[in-house]
Amino acid sequence: MSALEITAPLLQEPQGEKPVFCADIGGSFIKFGVSPAPGRLVLLEKIPTPSTSWDGFVGTLCDLIQRNAGSGIALSPFALSIAGLVDPVTGAATSANIPCVTGHRLSEELTELMGRPVLAGNDADCLTLAEANEGAGRGHSVVFCAVLGTGVGGGLAVDGRLVRGAGGVTGEWGHGPILNTTVDLEDGNGRIFIPRFSCGCGQAGCADTIGGARGIERLHRFLHDKDESSHAILGSWQQGDEAASRTVAVYLDLMADPLALAVNLTGASIVPVGGGLASVTPLIEEIDKAVRRRILHRRNEPLVVPAERLDDGGLLGAAVLGRQGEAQ
Ligand SMILES: [Zn+2]
Repeated sequence: MSALEITAPLLQEPQGEKPVFCADIGGSFIKFGVSPAPGRLVLLEKIPTPSTSWDGFVGTLCDLIQRNAGSGIALSPFALSIAGLVDPVTGAATSANIPCVTGHRLSEELTELMGRPVLAGNDADCLTLAEANEGAGRGHSVVFCAVLGTGVGGGLAVDGRLVRGAGGVTGEWGHGPILNTTVDLEDGNGRIFIPRFSCGCGQAGCADTIGGARGIERLHRFLHDKDESSHAILGSWQQGDEAASRTVAVYLDLMADPLALAVNLTGASIVPVGGGLASVTPLIEEIDKAVRRRILHRRNEPLVVPAERLDDGGLLGAAVLGRQGEAQ
């Protein structure tokens, strides 16, 4: 039976476990599913995100619940993973990709509108929860999840629960003037000066400016005066292309510094990597080697690894969030 053919009896509470409805809300699509029990997830629908109208957004979520919730589980929680920030104090969301949610206290407003507990977390935090509980971080007490997507994000979980901290930005290693400005390449080709590129957060020299897909492209443009997609650059690197290899060598040198510091600071024993770049396994392996050369606690086994829940981490993490009752 396909996921979309799931029938109401399957949604009944097994052995007293409360099912959690969950949605992974990105700028383009909403993935909607249900977690009947911890570690179990059924994808029910994938529909376009109404990103510009709050009323349309709320209506779509209500319709999803209406279509999929049986009467017996009317009050089961609904947990959202959203591409944006959720302030842990005010509950207000900020999202560049889903502008209609910006300024809305998602949990509070949706709980009232939908008549069931609604919880919301950002996508990096939900991936962190998924990895810590059901992914590469299983069995690890401290999990630092690094997201290398369009930009750079991250999250920290201890004993399976998120550490939120002031402002809800714990684990956001992508911002702050932290990048080195010189790189001495191991091939002896001299010292390269790297400017502090200005960042969308208002600072300059952030890991976000070179760490994600757009960052690699920026670095490549600076070093070689060439406009290429991150996909093309990383493909050329794996083919042994000289220019791409230089870009990746500079990238690794610059990005391994702040990531090693994050490991030292948090005591993480595993760093699952999410985001689009995580699928480039050779890149993650090189980041792992570069980070392990820099951390204080030397180890031989891999530390920085591709996330195991790249596809369903948002939904699964939202389900964990709902189950843990981490209200925003
Ligand atoms: Zn920044």
